[in-house]
Amino acid sequence: MTLAARNLKHNWHPYTQHKTSRTPIAIARGEGALLWDEDGKEYIDAIASWWVNPFGHANRFIADAIYKQLTTLEHVLFGGFTHEPAVVLSEKLIEILPNNQQKLFYSDNGSTSVEIAIKVSMQYFFNQGIKKTKIIAFEDAFHGDTFGAMAASGISFFTEAFKDSLIEVVRIPVPTAGNEAKSIEALEKLAATNECAAFIFEPLVQGAAGMVMYAPEILDQLMAICKANEVFTIADEVMTGFGKTGRNFACDYLEQQPDMMCISKALTGGTIPMAITSFTQEIFDCFYDDDINKALFHGHTFTANPTGCAAALASLELLQSEEMQENLKRVHANHLVFEAKMKQHHKVKTTRVLGVILAIEIKTDSQESYYGSMRNLLYDFFIENGVILRPVGNIVYVLPPYVMTDQQLNKVYHVIENALEII
Ligand SMILES: *Cc1c(COP(=O)(O)O)cnc(C)c1O
Repeated sequence: MTLAARNLKHNWHPYTQHKTSRTPIAIARGEGALLWDEDGKEYIDAIASWWVNPFGHANRFIADAIYKQLTTLEHVLFGGFTHEPAVVLSEKLIEILPNNQQKLFYSDNGSTSVEIAIKVSMQYFFNQGIKKTKIIAFEDAFHGDTFGAMAASGISFFTEAFKDSLIEVVRIPVPTAGNEAKSIEALEKLAATNECAAFIFEPLVQGAAGMVMYAPEILDQLMAICKANEVFTIADEVMTGFGKTGRNFACDYLEQQPDMMCISKALTGGTIPMAITSFTQEIFDCFYDDDINKALFHGHTFTANPTGCAAALASLELLQSEEMQENLKRVHANHLVFEAKMKQHHKVKTTRVLGVILAIEIKTDSQESYYGSMRNLLYDFFIENGVILRPVGNIVYVLPPYVMTDQQLNKVYHVIENALEII
């Protein structure tokens, strides 16, 4: 029996309607931007395995760091203890995070990093006897699938069954070109109510919504409104972090600095699940008290796992290497050339590029749903042609590992062009 067949007996996959979806492919091996399935078929991983893998699969440099850590200290509890990998990683991250960020709280995945930011926002005010419990978020946002993160997410069919059990989240329009004024107006109204603890957003790019992009200038304005009204700003950089936008963080394009930041995907180069929520000193100080009840009673068993920290340290070193910075520029330049070509295509509605992120919106007559028929047709075509791309409705996006070669990138572009012929 193949692995793919055995898999179906016991494994329940994410975001999958098992009755109607195609059988998950069993991947046996990876190297760089390539993956091979159990039959030896080769795939180009053009979405970096859900945006986590900038430096290529089975990266030896990170693997060696992990091995060394595993054979020194694999794990120790972070309650009452600490260790060198966490101390050094925090020092290194503080150097590259916005310079108001001073305190790091470790967890395991993007959703928990968001959960922690939301809880801290609410408890900050609670600790002072102030009732501010609503959270502001963008329409079509994605912040994760645990309850708080899910509440902040705006992709409705993900959350429909739970809508009566969620914390209160109020939404403002995404300030894409032409919608800036609406967005600002909505935020001004909400911020003035004195009921909102925080505004959470994916800075500059809404990943799960289909790489929807908006300008840094307008985000600066929105953040300034929050500052003026004592509403915390939470930059969810789980997707955008670590070079994807062409800079270390999307926030590096801003004048304003967020009060909190969430990072996870790509933090460990796609090896070990880990996330961090970062905070200003002022936020930390509000929990610092003789009263134990003012502490943040939140934690996860694997918080600041040393092996994860070692993987993150190795990843940071790779990210900051000249070679990787060159790769970022090279992928971006390739995207621009292909984007210019796609702009001319009669089946293409819009295109956008930021850093290594490229999105192409295909013209349709109908409102394409997230997992609609065009999406499935495209997905199957890409897989048949050995390219892993997961279109969002009618939006095809490419977010490759930074190490993807020009030749591999060109194959991805070529398969996208061919896909436009079949729809
Ligand atoms: C993926 C993602 C999350 C959730 O991360 P998980 O590790 O899947 O829980 C949160 N926010 C953003 C912006 C994401 O892209």
